[in-house]
Formats: sequence, C-alpha cells, structure tokens
Amino acid sequence: MSLVDVQFLGCGDAFGTGGRFNTCFHVKGTKSSFLIDCGASSLVAMKKFNVDPNSIDTIFLTHLHGDHFAGVIFFLMDARYLAQRTRPLTIAGPKGVRQRIKDTMNVLYPGCWDKPDNFDIHFFELAKGKRQTIQNIGVHPFNAKHLLDGNDFILRFEIDGKTITYSGDTGWTTELIPAAKDADLFICEAFHYDRVCEFHLAYATIKEKQNQLQAKTTVLTHLGPETFEKINELTLQVAFDGMKISV
Ligand SMILES: [Zn+2]
Ligand SMILES: [Zn+2]
Repeated sequence: MSLVDVQFLGCGDAFGTGGRFNTCFHVKGTKSSFLIDCGASSLVAMKKFNVDPNSIDTIFLTHLHGDHFAGVIFFLMDARYLAQRTRPLTIAGPKGVRQRIKDTMNVLYPGCWDKPDNFDIHFFELAKGKRQTIQNIGVHPFNAKHLLDGNDFILRFEIDGKTITYSGDTGWTTELIPAAKDADLFICEAFHYDRVCEFHLAYATIKEKQNQLQAKTTVLTHLGPETFEKINELTLQVAFDGMKISV
C-alpha cells in the first residue's frame, strides 16, 4: 500500500498564537492532492513550504470561519493572475459555501468574482452523515459542535486505503468517536488547555477521552494561548507549521 503524505501548512488558531499560520493541511496520495481547510494565511504558507497551488485538485472546508476558509479568496486570485491555472478546482464544504466565498471575494476584491477564469470551479455541499466520493477521495462528514447554526463538520477522509480524520473546530461530542475510530491519522484541535468550553476542545478533555478516540496516531493542532504556553508539557504529539507525516 502506498503512503499518503500529509503536511501541516498551518496549525495555528484564529489569533496568530505562536506565530503559526491559520489552519491548512496538504494531503497527497497517488491520484489526488488536496487541502483540508484553507485559512486566511494559507496561500502564504503554501508559498513558504513550496506547495504549488496548481497541484491542488480539491479544497475541503470544515466550516466557514475566516481562519479555516478565507484563504480560498487569495488562492483564487493567485490562480487567476499568477499561477495561470487551467485545471479545474473543486471546493467542497458546508451548505452555502459557494455564496459565502462569492460574498467574501466581493468584499475583499470588488468586481473580481464576475471576471472570467481560465479554469472551472466545481462547488460541492457536503451532507452530514453521508459518505461521498469526490475526486477519488472518500469523505464522511460528522457533526461538529462549534457553530450555533450547526453548519460545521468533523471530516473523515479515505484516500489510497488510508484514513485521515480532522476534528475541525469543535467542543466535545461523541461524534468524534466514530469519526476517529481506527484512523491512520487523527488531527485534533486543542484550543483550550483545561477550560470547559462548548465550542472548542481542551487538551485535558482529549487526554480524558483518549481511550475512546481510537486512532492510530493523534496529532494536536489549533492550540490557543493557554495550550501553547504549555506546549512542552503536552504528552500528545503536537503539529508545527511545515511538519510532514506519511501514513
Ligand atoms: Zn479555528
Ligand atoms: Zn471556527
């Protein structure tokens, strides 16, 4: 079985904690190359770590917060004006993803959305509890517990026989148990250290529930200030920007 390469292009939170880039993970298999989330700073991170934006087929979005999706705007501007993209691009995310990206582009670069591109963009709305195949990638969205409107996902991917789960932003939910089960890689947010919060996970909770979260490898991401301050005391693996893992 071939290896799937995962690079953490950004493992920061929304507040620039630790000088880390916003959330963006690059996954590369034999037939596909995709991003999981594309936060505001992700194009900068791609250029820093020499990931060619034209090599990306698909961008999956867990939810439409700026630190997880706003980089799509800069990705699209780069695709049009610098990268001279011609390959189609697929963007898969929560309900309303196309409209939200259009609205954001209209705010940041008025008039640009309506200009012609030399590439097609295909938008997909992911549905909770329904496994879909998009560009050779199996994707199974689970319910996250982060946004009040519920329009957010934990995403479990199947690629080249390997399973990668990303918690997205979420408070503790039992949905994490099937989503992470037997995953070759479980990327889990740990914004808080031990504070109980409905909408984000704490490191202490992940440790407490570790026997229920039966992934083969767990890597923490999205560390907030309190968790980051204790980074050298954490007993689970913590991502850093540029880190590569093969599964
Ligand atoms: Zn976030
Ligand atoms: Zn969020």
